[in-house]
Amino acid sequence: MDLNTIETVLRPRGRADLPDWRVGDACLAGGTWLFSEPQPGTRRLVDLTSLGWPPHTIAAEGLTLAATCTIAQLDRLELPSDWIAAPLVGPCCRALLGSFKIWNVATVGGNLCMGLPAGPMTALAAALDATCTIWAPDGSERHLPVMNFVLGPQRNALRPAEILRSLFMPTAALARRTVFRRISLSPNGRSGALLIGTLDPAGTFALTVTAATRRPVRLAFITLPDRDALARELNHAIPAELYYDDVHGRPDWRRHMTLHLAQEIRDALADEASA
Ligand SMILES: Cc1cc2nc3c(=O)[nH]c(=O)nc-3n(C[C@H](O)[C@H](O)[C@H](O)COP(=O)(O)OP(=O)(O)OC[C@H]3O[C@@H](n4cnc5c(N)ncnc54)[C@H](O)[C@@H]3O)c2cc1C
Repeated sequence: MDLNTIETVLRPRGRADLPDWRVGDACLAGGTWLFSEPQPGTRRLVDLTSLGWPPHTIAAEGLTLAATCTIAQLDRLELPSDWIAAPLVGPCCRALLGSFKIWNVATVGGNLCMGLPAGPMTALAAALDATCTIWAPDGSERHLPVMNFVLGPQRNALRPAEILRSLFMPTAALARRTVFRRISLSPNGRSGALLIGTLDPAGTFALTVTAATRRPVRLAFITLPDRDALARELNHAIPAELYYDDVHGRPDWRRHMTLHLAQEIRDALADEASA
C-alpha cells in the first residue's frame, strides 16, 4: 500500500551517509511488512538495500548473512559439502509462504527484526547459534546471540537508531546433523509450530522451538534424552502462557504439536545415531 505519511526516502551509500536518527524514522529492507499496513508514525525511510552489502560470505569460520540478504538469495546459496546442516536452509526459506515477489525482496534481517513467532529466519538462526552484529549510531557495533535479539512478536533488542547489520553462524553449528519439523493449520498456512533439532559429533542435542511460542525457545542436552525426559524439559521450559495464540493456531494445539514434533525429531536423530 502507499504510505502517505512518508516525506523522505533516504538511500545511503555507506555507513557515513546514515542520517542522524529522528523520531519518525524507520529502516526499510524488503518492505514486505512495512508496506503491508499503515505506518502513521513514520515520516522518513532509510533504505538499507542501497548500502550494497554482499548478501553472504562463506569462510572457514562460518557463514555471514547480511541483514539485507533476501530469502531468494539465501535459498540459492550453495554451501560447502561438509556443512551437513545445509539442507536446513531450504525448508526454512520455504516456511515463509510468500510468492516469488515476496521471496525476492523479503530479507533475513527484516524477518528477525519483526520477531514474529512464525519467522523462519529466526528459527534457522537460533538453531545454528547465530550471532547478530548491530550497528550503533555512534559508529560502534555490538554483538548479540539471536536468542537475545528476538524478544517477541514485533519486539527485538535494537535500541533507537540501531541497525541490524548481519548474522554469523559458526562452522561448528553448520557441521551438526539437523532434523526439521513444521506444521500449519492449512497446507499453505503460516507456521503453527516449527521445530529444529541438532546433534553435534559429541552427541550434544539441542531443540529449537519457534512459531508455537511467543519467542524462540532453545533446550540443550548433553546427550539425546529419552522421550519422558524430553517431554518433562519441554513442559518445564515452556509455560502455558508462552504458547502463542492467533488465527494460525490455538495455544493448546500448538503445545500438543510441539510435544509431538519434538518426539519425532528425537526419534529421527536416535535412529540415525544407531544406524
Ligand atoms: C505474503 C506474505 C507472507 C509472509 N509470511 C511470513 C511468514 O511466514 N513468517 C514471518 O515471520 N513473516 C511473514 N511475513 C511478514 C514479513 O514479510 C517478513 O517477516 C519479512 O521477512 C520482512 O522482511 P522485509 O525485509 O520485507 O522487512 P521490512 O518490511 O522492510 O521491515 C520490517 C521491519 O523491520 C525493520 N527492519 C528491517 N530490516 C532492518 C535492519 N536491518 N535493521 C533494523 N531494522 C530493520 C523495519 O524498520 C520494519 O520495522 C509475510 C509477509 C507477506 C506479505
